[in-house]
Amino acid sequence: MILDRPLVLATRNEGKIYEFNDLIADCGIEIKSLKDFGPIPSVEENGATFEDNAYKKAAFTAKVLGVPALADDSGLMVEALGGMPGVKSARYAGEDATDRENNLKLLKAMKDVEERDASFMCIIAIAVPAGPALIYEGRCDGHITQEPIGRNGFGYDPLFYFPPLEKTFAQMESKEKNRVSHRGKAMAELRSEFDKVLIWLGQRLAEEPF
Ligand code: IMP
Repeated sequence: MILDRPLVLATRNEGKIYEFNDLIADCGIEIKSLKDFGPIPSVEENGATFEDNAYKKAAFTAKVLGVPALADDSGLMVEALGGMPGVKSARYAGEDATDRENNLKLLKAMKDVEERDASFMCIIAIAVPAGPALIYEGRCDGHITQEPIGRNGFGYDPLFYFPPLEKTFAQMESKEKNRVSHRGKAMAELRSEFDKVLIWLGQRLAEEPF
């Protein structure tokens, strides 16, 4: 193993864990997620930007568990709604809203709206327990459908149509989505310099005994 401790995905979201594992498999480091640990306090995602939230989650998890942590913050920005739901994507229809409730609210807000351009944004932060972090960004442009289409994925996937492949994210297999998605692109950027990331992590962690 290149690192003396695992990299922890700072999420309990099954969909994300699956996608991240797919994206960073074979990197020669042990990957864990919050599901492998007991309950730890959760961070309030009250940042004004995706970057604020991603950094908060990664830095908090790294500090509490004493391991490097990777967190993303992502969401859907709909042009006609002034960038909403944005950082509130998970809670668009209320604090504990389900994907279905969020999707229904979005469809309602977009009823009779012709301009349906939207983008998914993703910021990935990798932090070490002492606080420093690396940040990566990915974006995917598409538009909002008139009704849910497709059964795969999670969140707003059934409402997000990706013109180059002529289907919604929910009609794609995980690998196909990862090649074009906001998270996939942010991860591709991270992977393209993963050697340097590992050196950076190794150096930072050497200063912090396990
Ligand atoms: P967070 O990044 O976990 O704070 O929440 C982001 C929210 O944005 C999710 O709960 C989803 O509603 C939405 N979202 C983020 N990425 C995706 C995606 O790839 N597909 C569908 N919805 C997504």
